[in-house]
Amino acid sequence: MAICRPRCGNEVRPLHFYDQQIETLDRVRLRELQNERLRALIGEIDSNQFYQEKCATAGIALSEIRSAEDLQALAFTTKSELVEDQAANPPFGRTLTYPISTYRYFHQTSGTTGRPLKCLDTAASWEWWERCWGYVYAGAGVGADDIVFCAFSFGPYLSHWAAICGARHVGAMCISGGGMNSEQRLQTIIDNRCTVLVCTPTYALHLAEVARRVGIDLASSAITRSIHAGEPGASLPNVKRAIEHAWGATCFDHAGATEAGAWAFDCEAQSGAIHLNEAEFIFEVIDLAKSEPVEEGRGELVITNLGRAAMPVLRYRTGDVVDLTTEPCACGRSFARIRGGVLGRSDDMIIVRGVNLYPSAIDDLIRSLPEIGEYEVIIRRVEGLDDLLIRCESVDASPFERTRLSVENAFRRQFNIRISVEQAAAGSLPRYEFKARRFKRL
Ligand SMILES: [Zn+2]
Repeated sequence: MAICRPRCGNEVRPLHFYDQQIETLDRVRLRELQNERLRALIGEIDSNQFYQEKCATAGIALSEIRSAEDLQALAFTTKSELVEDQAANPPFGRTLTYPISTYRYFHQTSGTTGRPLKCLDTAASWEWWERCWGYVYAGAGVGADDIVFCAFSFGPYLSHWAAICGARHVGAMCISGGGMNSEQRLQTIIDNRCTVLVCTPTYALHLAEVARRVGIDLASSAITRSIHAGEPGASLPNVKRAIEHAWGATCFDHAGATEAGAWAFDCEAQSGAIHLNEAEFIFEVIDLAKSEPVEEGRGELVITNLGRAAMPVLRYRTGDVVDLTTEPCACGRSFARIRGGVLGRSDDMIIVRGVNLYPSAIDDLIRSLPEIGEYEVIIRRVEGLDDLLIRCESVDASPFERTRLSVENAFRRQFNIRISVEQAAAGSLPRYEFKARRFKRL
């Protein structure tokens, strides 16, 4: 990891890079690098049955893909396609490039929205995962002096293991928070003077709630940075502010997917837009209505990973809605950025009284109201229209009527819609460690 010290006025501000030379390449040279790596990948995956067939359907040979532009000839890859392939060709499907004896690591997706997808890695592709996390840690300024605490359960979910293994790429020590309850995790963070917390945004807020209850002052802990994965949130201004206020730390967003890789990371410039890792992936953003690529602006993110020949994805539709910009970042990286992180899922947008809403936007609004603790959102049909019912717990003893008015007014002001609000008894709503499921459809 390199450290450069650019001058900003009279202040010398250290910024950290994982690979400064690559991260600051001009965009023409960056595209050349991507094309070189793509050609190497295509040469390596020549025997991959899944992509051979995909190319055959498109009327081309895999070896004809020589550049990012050539990828356009190929149909998108979707998650349901990968899941169906594994169901039809058990147990691991046809996306594996090498004989099974070459693989070392098994993980699977959480399966919260359907059948879990199994993802296998070789020693080389696991090294690639770790390297991608190196960018995430370096972007947040994590280095050899840091002790990272990963507050995850450590099941077969990939990102937990990639986060813990990747810390070595910036020289940091890493502590697993598996097999502990929230109080034990807090105590471990305090006792060992951990400086970096890695968990979902939801769980960071939950830990803060537990700390309050048991009388631990988090602002006096050694945590200076938190890195958040698993769900959008750390780029939502009010969620970010709530986490930073509770922990007295700087909050960094990160995005990734088991089937594609750890593809985005935040930087110390804290611009409100996070970097796409263009050293390790080729990205496209496609217009949601027309499925055509857009140069800048909003659309669904499509990913080709360049370092996971063992189980690659070419033109993978992530379902993540992003807002792309290639404007230079104050940190000096030339990698493109997405404003506000992942804005939502292309398939979870809800339409309430004619207003398009993403759960992340609702989450951000509710986190701006300090009187509300945990909450859930019920989407129900009333006279043929979607209607929102917010059930929430109060964190103080003020009359609920005041909370109800505050939530109703906030929704009217922000989204110009009327909603219903109900009180939930303190502690009655579920708490989430990973991937919060606060939205329910009746
Ligand atoms: Zn930056």
